Amino acid sequence: MADRALIAEILCTGEELLLGDIVNTNAAFLSERLTDLGICVYHHSVVGDDPRRLGECVEEGLSRSDIVIISGGLGPTKDDLTKETVAALFGRKMKLHEPSLADIKSYFERTGRTMSKNNEKQAMMPEGAIVFPNHFGTAPALALERDSKSVIMLPGPPSELIPLFCEQAEPYLRTKINQAIVSKNIHIFGMGESAIAEKIDALLIDTPSLTAATYCKEGEVRIRITARAETESLASELCEEHAQKIMRSEVGGFAYGVDVGTIENAVVTALHQKGLTLSAAESCTGGLIAKRITDISGCSDVFFGGCVTYTNDVKHRLIGVKEETLERYGAVSEQTAREMAVGVRLATGSDIGISTTGVAGPTGGTAETPVGTVFIGISTSEGESVRRLSLSSMRSREYIRQASATNAFDMVLKAILLK
Ligand code: ATP
Ligand code: MG
Repeated sequence: MADRALIAEILCTGEELLLGDIVNTNAAFLSERLTDLGICVYHHSVVGDDPRRLGECVEEGLSRSDIVIISGGLGPTKDDLTKETVAALFGRKMKLHEPSLADIKSYFERTGRTMSKNNEKQAMMPEGAIVFPNHFGTAPALALERDSKSVIMLPGPPSELIPLFCEQAEPYLRTKINQAIVSKNIHIFGMGESAIAEKIDALLIDTPSLTAATYCKEGEVRIRITARAETESLASELCEEHAQKIMRSEVGGFAYGVDVGTIENAVVTALHQKGLTLSAAESCTGGLIAKRITDISGCSDVFFGGCVTYTNDVKHRLIGVKEETLERYGAVSEQTAREMAVGVRLATGSDIGISTTGVAGPTGGTAETPVGTVFIGISTSEGESVRRLSLSSMRSREYIRQASATNAFDMVLKAILLK
């Protein structure tokens, strides 16, 4: 294939996608994996179960990309037309593929179900197809090649598409790539995406062998540096050199890690390293801090637990926030956040207590505490501090809650650094 980076596009089929009944998670998954492989994805399309429109989309895709990856339409029913449509486009006949038929039969035997006549259709393959056996369902996947271009056809259900892609399509794609690609992610909190992009533009010059992209998520920014070279070690060197350049700059001062995944991952790692423990008292985040922390396997050594103290009464009874504080300053206040953090730390016996109280909206805002006002408290044996967030009231409830939890994690990381 070409000396340059390969270009792929993703074509998802199914009326359900067009009608908004299901979300196109296959496209997101495939895009992420292709990007990791250093394959450029320039187009996503969705088309219904209509052979003419599907054929047109495949043809258009092949006119501008090296690889077209199709998801869906490999099932046993009449509206599953992907293979037949691509075969017709390539002028290939459909033939029974005996190994696939044997696989399908054994899949039905293994799962104790009866095979219908329809399932035999799933073993029909276009002539010259490279067949990817499906160990996760009945429909085998396949690739068809023509003039150095490929069409890869994968089943629609994500429970089949994902493992099949990793097990079969990815090794196939690797044989087409003649460049090594290495990337690094620098995770930033506390600096805006546009400011970061500006600084990076001044630091790095985008070339085909080195690119830097920023991705923003609820107040966090990830800078992804991607280097391409003839060998893995050359690409690694190039990537490392530029990652360090960024880490030494002003932007690096806001970084909480390189390739550390999420901020809560960084928190769990830092707690482990320092032998510290955490607990959380949550109001406006409603358990999100505990959820995000407990998403990480192995967190039980460092996370003692948390409570969702939503009403004033529960804030008082469970973690000892004074009734007087609640009356005088209100539930959404610096004082309440402070007492919540202290209260949960003492109640659980952890080293660090974190708390959130705020107005996530869209209702419930007042002139003094508009929607987007959140107080985050932190308590350690050395004392307490509170951060006030004034997020835009136009932000969604989801955004405000996630950003509050992320800020809480940032405060925990900073507190750990001081320990
Ligand atoms: P089947 O044998 O189940 O018919 P198929 O390969 O023909 O498999 P489709 O009929 O297109 O695939 O889709 C089957 C199911 O897979 C859909 O009902 C949907 O739940 C899921 N699915 C399909 N496409 C996507 C997609 N792009 N993103 C997420 N889920 C999808
Ligand atoms: Mg189907």
